[in-house]
Amino acid sequence: MTRSQTSRAAFTVLRELVALHTQNSVHFRNVTARLFPGALDAASLEELPYLPSEMFKTNALKSIEDGDVFKILKSSGTTGQARSHIYLDRETARSQTKALSSIFAAAFGPKRMPMLSLDNPGQLQNRASFSARGAGILGFSMFAHKRVFALNDDMSVNIEAVKAFLSADAPRKFIFGFTAIIWQEFLQKIDGFSPAACVGEAHLLHGGGWKKLAAQNISAQAFREAVTAKLPCVKTVRDYYGMVEQTGSIYMGCDAGFLHTNAHNDILCRDPDTLEIAPPGTSGVMQVLSVLPTSYPGFSILTEDLGTVHGDGGCPCGQPGKYFSIHGRLEQAEIRGCSDTYEAAA
Ligand SMILES: [Zn+2]
Repeated sequence: MTRSQTSRAAFTVLRELVALHTQNSVHFRNVTARLFPGALDAASLEELPYLPSEMFKTNALKSIEDGDVFKILKSSGTTGQARSHIYLDRETARSQTKALSSIFAAAFGPKRMPMLSLDNPGQLQNRASFSARGAGILGFSMFAHKRVFALNDDMSVNIEAVKAFLSADAPRKFIFGFTAIIWQEFLQKIDGFSPAACVGEAHLLHGGGWKKLAAQNISAQAFREAVTAKLPCVKTVRDYYGMVEQTGSIYMGCDAGFLHTNAHNDILCRDPDTLEIAPPGTSGVMQVLSVLPTSYPGFSILTEDLGTVHGDGGCPCGQPGKYFSIHGRLEQAEIRGCSDTYEAAA
């Protein structure tokens, strides 16, 4: 399928989701009635209604009966901070897994690889309430046939485990972690491994935002160089953009250093003041769209992330789809007015 075909298919599903959630979620119905009166007849992606991500922290947004809740995902957050609660039924959970699997296979191939998690095993201990980190590790473990942790529970590096992983006899290996953890807790603590220490080639995927690294003036390029200098077996370094509110339909990074849409999602960039669509190439606040959520009204969310959509097709990597970058987060105060509007409507 060409991009315009996948885009049309996604729009058709998204429009059906407007009707579904209007019927099944009172919060969604109230917000759209007040702020998006033509929502059910949206003629383009840009006209679809959206909820601010903040609303998932302050309301139990569900489009299913309580008895059908299969799992609740929570966003990461420090103590005292409100966290998003995402209510999944079996169907939504299943479609999340399926989408993640197809996006992963498109980037790294369909074969399972041994996996090195650049984190500690403690992240998976409390299965009842996962942190976003734990959920990420578990999500990507589905594509691995053996998982090893690079860090101990006290966040020291388990050098022996890393050595054993790198020298294990497998032609392709998968390394996964969160950007800031990889940088601070792994790359800064190891001397590096010689090419002779590695068997086969490795592919590294990281996510979780650049905010902490940007604060230290560490660019994507510097991150990539540090990874390949210390782990010379790493042949590709990709990042991804995703959030607990739209688990599964992540945006995968490409070799040219941009993030891409795919058949499961779409993205729009809006002027933070007017909320009009920002012209390609200009910075704005990102609206994320996912075809997956049926159990909660999270298919179209105005995030607090700032980014730029560079174009629809035309990425130097040659892949179709929109390609974009994320720069950081809106200051809390900037989005305030917008959330207040929604709170009033909800
Ligand atoms: Zn690209």
